[in-house]
Amino acid sequence: MQQILLIAVAILSSLQVILTQEPRSPPSKIAIVGAGIGGTSAAYFLRQKFGKDVRIDIFEKGVVGGRLSTVEVDGNHYEAGGSIIHPLNLHMKAFVKDLGLTALSLPKNQLGVYNGDEFVFQESECFLMNIINKVWKYGMNFLRLSMWVEDILEKFMRIYQYQRFDYSFSSMESMFHALGGKDFSSKLNTTLSEAMQNYGFSQKFIDDIVTPTMRINYGQGVEVNSFVGAVSMSCLDPGQWAVEGGNKLVCSRLIDASEAQLIQGSVTSVQENVHITKSGDTVRLYEVRYQTSNGAGQDFYDIIIIATPLNKAISKIEFQGFNPPIETFSKPYIQVVTTVVHGKINASFFGCSKPCHFGVSEIFTTDNPKHFVSSISRISPVTFVPESHLSNSSGYEIWRMFSPELLTDDQLGLLFESYEGVGAKKWLAYPQYTNAPEKLPPIMLHHGIYYVNSIEWAASAMEICAVSAKNVALLSYHRWYDMDTHVDQDDLAERLKSEL
Ligand SMILES: Cc1cc2nc3c(=O)[nH]c(=O)nc-3n(C[C@H](O)[C@H](O)[C@H](O)COP(=O)(O)OP(=O)(O)OC[C@H]3O[C@@H](n4cnc5c(N)ncnc54)[C@H](O)[C@@H]3O)c2cc1C
Repeated sequence: MQQILLIAVAILSSLQVILTQEPRSPPSKIAIVGAGIGGTSAAYFLRQKFGKDVRIDIFEKGVVGGRLSTVEVDGNHYEAGGSIIHPLNLHMKAFVKDLGLTALSLPKNQLGVYNGDEFVFQESECFLMNIINKVWKYGMNFLRLSMWVEDILEKFMRIYQYQRFDYSFSSMESMFHALGGKDFSSKLNTTLSEAMQNYGFSQKFIDDIVTPTMRINYGQGVEVNSFVGAVSMSCLDPGQWAVEGGNKLVCSRLIDASEAQLIQGSVTSVQENVHITKSGDTVRLYEVRYQTSNGAGQDFYDIIIIATPLNKAISKIEFQGFNPPIETFSKPYIQVVTTVVHGKINASFFGCSKPCHFGVSEIFTTDNPKHFVSSISRISPVTFVPESHLSNSSGYEIWRMFSPELLTDDQLGLLFESYEGVGAKKWLAYPQYTNAPEKLPPIMLHHGIYYVNSIEWAASAMEICAVSAKNVALLSYHRWYDMDTHVDQDDLAERLKSEL
């Protein structure tokens, strides 16, 4: 009896301690490095969680938007980086709606797949003919593909429900496990080619359709992890869209909406500073050093969000004095060049002898070393321009090409009978995914340092970066206020069924 009383007293006194404890005050300053879609959406979600009093600074060494960017050709602007958005990308959809932007439906292109000698697959304008052609050439493989992609997307989309209920994950592994258990996590450790063969896709379908789609979307083949493979294949789904005026507008509007301060400068180092206050409390702050056009600067922050790839060729941030040291995961990113040309395509280069009806508006290429481009697509400007202003009777149209290297005049001369304007942009575009099983970098680099772009090693896409940004905002919030119940919960799919 005495023992029970003692336990009750102990419980009551600890309850009293909890109730009388001052709630922790919010952080006073948060720094975000990078104003691409990852950094700007992090600012937006952090503002929603931490409230109006926190100062949020976004450092950007280049242009707001990062890999969302346009090039100008003959007076119009065209997407040169992240271009298409899937109809089920719910964060991007919500941004466009909440920020007063407009979604532009992208026209369905007629696809041709070129192997260097001929088109191995070609769509026509007739819907019925396309279905017959697909079944004739590849049996049920196209249908199987949409089922395979749908199954993976459906599991991935559980993240929206988890985030709606404020749940977050401290590692990519725990996020993927919560989305679909071991089977879903294994998508990161299985190559696309292995996964597709196990699912019963034919080698011909993989060579003719899957490999060329990987080449246009990620500049690499089918040895990538099967999750990024599914993300890539989802671009064949109908209903793709973009933002009127350019996808990068989402980033500048997110900065405005989050009332973050944009600091145009390059962060050079982050260092931990631990102070002991007069009352004996430990205060941990991070010192950020940066370089602007006006010289060097420094400031102290409670939380740091890294929203750029930690690749030395891209971000060059030093983490100084950390014990153990923070790894910078300088894994390679692959180079992709976007070239936009206003010109008349040379149909004979693609084996169309004159007089020729060149029926395709998007050309993917197979894995053949003789190709110097991975794709050529007819595109429209980011703002509406009447068709008559873009093409003329001599067949001039706007074409966008992705290639590993800058295209030479000779190469452009092969692809086009003649051309006027040319715009090009060189990127370190996406991770080189060649080595599934993939070891993903951590999300938490230190107590208060979070890494949005860790997720790019699962798959790089606008929406995926926004998902990661929301996860990091929720995670940093829960960890700031010691709310473990909303971090790394594993049986969420089951638990949340009843909360729907
Ligand atoms: C050619 C191409 C085509 C693509 N197509 C698509 C597509 O169709 N659909 C899709 O969903 N995705 C696509 N993507 C991928 C998508 O664009 C990216 O996944 C996404 O934009 C990455 O956003 P981010 O904010 O994480 O990184 P980034 O956009 O790279 O932003 C990082 C920012 O950090 C800044 N920065 C870096 N270091 C520092 C520093 N030390 N100090 C201050 N600032 C720093 C950089 O200047 C940059 O602006 C494409 C990408 C490319 C390159």
